[in-house]
Amino acid sequence: MQYLMPTKVKRLNPKQTEVTWNDGHFGSYWSWYLRENCPCASCVDEITGIRKVGHGSIPSSLERMNVAPVGNYALQFEWSDGHNTGIYSFDYLRELCPCSQCHPEHLDEPPEQIADPGSFEV
Ligand SMILES: [Zn+2]
Ligand SMILES: [Zn+2]
Repeated sequence: MQYLMPTKVKRLNPKQTEVTWNDGHFGSYWSWYLRENCPCASCVDEITGIRKVGHGSIPSSLERMNVAPVGNYALQFEWSDGHNTGIYSFDYLRELCPCSQCHPEHLDEPPEQIADPGSFEV
C-alpha cells in the first residue's frame, strides 16, 4: 500500500493553503478551518478526545504565518493568532480535505467577525 503524502504545499494566499497529494488529489484548506480542527493537546482534550475549539470561534480572517514539515509524516502550521502547536499528520490532513469530493456537504464557514464599532486597530 502506498502511503498518502503531500507532494506540494502551496500558499495560495494567507487564508488558503493548497495541498496536492501523491495520488493526484488536491484540496485547498482555509486557515480558519485547519485552526478549528487543530489536533494539539490544548485544542483537544487528551482523555476524552473532545474538541475544545468550537465551530465559529475562529475568525474567517485568520491567516497562516508559516507551515513547515515535521519529519516525513506531518505538517506544522503557525497561525496569525500565535497558535503553532498543531501537528497535522498527513493522514489527518487528508481526512480534513475540504474539497467537494471529500466533504460534499460543503464547509460551514464562520461568519465574518463584525468589528465592535467602539474599538478598532490602527
Ligand atoms: Zn491547537
Ligand atoms: Zn479532497
